[in-house]
Amino acid sequence: MEAPENPDISVVPEKSPSAIYIHIPFCRRECYYCNFSKLKYEQNSAEKYTDLLCTELKLRRDQHSYIKTVYFGGGSPAIIPDASLTKIIEALYENYNIGKLSEMTVEVNPEECSIEKLNFLKSVGFNRISIGVQSFSDEDLKYLSRNHSGVQSREALETAIKAGFDSVSADLIIGLPDQKKKTLGNNIKIISSAGVNHLSAYILEGVKEYGGRKSPDADHQSNLYNTFREKISGTEFDQYEVSNFCRAEAYSEHNMNYWEGGSYIGAGLSASGYESGIDYTNYSDMENYCRSIESMKIPIADRIENDPVKRSLVTGLRLTKGIEKEKFTIYESRIRELIEEGFLEETEKYYRVVPSRMVVLNEILTYLI
Ligand code: SF4
Repeated sequence: MEAPENPDISVVPEKSPSAIYIHIPFCRRECYYCNFSKLKYEQNSAEKYTDLLCTELKLRRDQHSYIKTVYFGGGSPAIIPDASLTKIIEALYENYNIGKLSEMTVEVNPEECSIEKLNFLKSVGFNRISIGVQSFSDEDLKYLSRNHSGVQSREALETAIKAGFDSVSADLIIGLPDQKKKTLGNNIKIISSAGVNHLSAYILEGVKEYGGRKSPDADHQSNLYNTFREKISGTEFDQYEVSNFCRAEAYSEHNMNYWEGGSYIGAGLSASGYESGIDYTNYSDMENYCRSIESMKIPIADRIENDPVKRSLVTGLRLTKGIEKEKFTIYESRIRELIEEGFLEETEKYYRVVPSRMVVLNEILTYLI
């Protein structure tokens, strides 16, 4: 397949990107429920990928935008060699206008959280860490075939706090077939007492019955999601997005930029970005990604110009504060129907999803658009 010409992103954006997402696709093992683009880790491939990624950052060079947040996601970004991570960060500073970043996040798994590794991550500029603890219950972790125990999940959070990150986030998975309400309460208790200031709780999706493994039931998941929300409302954490909670207003600034419709650059295998009103996605297979960069072309596979109002409806309704009424008059009649049916509610200036209906957000959006 021929690599495409560089897309036209020469139009000066209404609002220049203030965020960069970097995708590192390597994992030590592949979790069966994960839909992210990932590859089995090998040092040689990670080093080769680092060089490709640094070239992509150079191809996308932008000295006009002022970058405020950077997010390294994956995959497992922290497993690539320290020298590779350092090289990517240097490429960011060489090619973008980065002053003092307000947020630089890295995703890690609990088994990667040695104090030496976390001290290294801090030393190269990460001030926010997002740890994929998933649960503190060994039963849940066994169902998910994770590589770590509940005790390791807990120790990872403690090590991150000790390493002194400004912000520590814990990722949880809820809605497992046999997950108990008590487990959710226990997970929340551990996170609250560990001193973590942010947590994300994702509903397990797309798991089919396989061998002795059960698949989740939608009603059970909906029940667990609302139980989770109820239990967390008794803590210092506030929900601010369908899957995200924080205390003391420690929102993820990088992700808030997505949900509020801001532009961002995406770099790396399968990464997505949004610039000059265009949503784009990079190649998700290494062969085309590599071929495109070696011929000095930005490795975009797809680009689409979405209707900006529809786009901000879809991202804005994820937020608990909702969407500004005056910007969505075109959807008013459908919104009114959903208010009458108890799915949406309104304040003086905003429409928002009724909190207990957040679990059916996708259905609400499908009806609206
Ligand atoms: S470690 Fe994370 S990114 Fe890698 S396969 Fe598992 S869930 Fe997916």
